[in-house]
Amino acid sequence: MSGPSGPFHQAGGWIEVIAGVMFSGKSEELIRRVRRAIIARKRVQVFKSHLDARYAGIYTVSSHDGRTVEAIPADSAAQIAQQIDPIAHVIAIDEAQFMDRGIVPLVTSLAGRGRRVIVAGTDTDFRGEPFGAMPDLMAIAEVVDKLHAICVLCGGPASRNQRLIGGRPVPYNSPQIMVGGTESYEARCRMCHTVPAGDAAQVPLL
Ligand code: ADP
Ligand code: ZN
Repeated sequence: MSGPSGPFHQAGGWIEVIAGVMFSGKSEELIRRVRRAIIARKRVQVFKSHLDARYAGIYTVSSHDGRTVEAIPADSAAQIAQQIDPIAHVIAIDEAQFMDRGIVPLVTSLAGRGRRVIVAGTDTDFRGEPFGAMPDLMAIAEVVDKLHAICVLCGGPASRNQRLIGGRPVPYNSPQIMVGGTESYEARCRMCHTVPAGDAAQVPLL
C-alpha cells in the first residue's frame, strides 16, 4: 500500500482517523481527502477548533504548505452537532485533540447514520502522553493512519511534539494546552524529545 490508507468504502458510514505529531501532514492529508470527496460530488463539512488559528483565518483548514479549504469553527462536540448539515455525506474534523470527550459519541452517531467521518488530530501532547479523546477515536475508527514528521535534530522520523519556551524544553508540569502563549513546537523523535523533571517515560527498567 502506498502512503496513507487507500480508498476504504463500505455501505453505510465509517470513521477514519489521521493521527500524528505537529508538522506530520495531518491537515494536508485531511484537505486531500476533502478535495477528493468534493470531486466525487459529495457534500462535505469541515470543522476546526478556534484554538489553532494558524496562518489563514479560523474559517479555513490550513496546511503548512498554504493550501486551504473552508472550515467551520467549533470548540466542542455540541457546537459541531448544532451545525451538522443533515444532508452532508462527509464530516471532517481537524485538531480533534482540542475537542471534549463528547466527540466520541458524536462521531459514532454520525457514522451510525451513514456518514463518512474523517478526524485529524495530534495524538500525543508535549509530554508524549495521549491527548484528549484521540486514543478513543483511534480505537473506534475503521481506519487509522499515523503520520510522522521529520525530527529537526537528527532527521529521523518524528513522533513527539517538543514544546519550547525561549528555546528551552518546558517541564512536565506545564499545562497540556497553552492558549495564546509564547511557546513554540518542534517535531522530534523519541530519543531527541526532552521533558525535564517528572518525565513519565523514566520508569525503572525491569
Ligand atoms: P499537521 O497538520 O500534521 O501539523 P501540516 O499538514 O499542517 O501538518 O503540515 C505539514 C507540512 O509541514 C509538511 O508538508 C512540510 O512542508 C512542513 N514541515 C515543517 N516542518 C516539518 C518537519 N519537521 N517535518 C515534516 N514536515 C515539516
Ligand atoms: Zn531525533
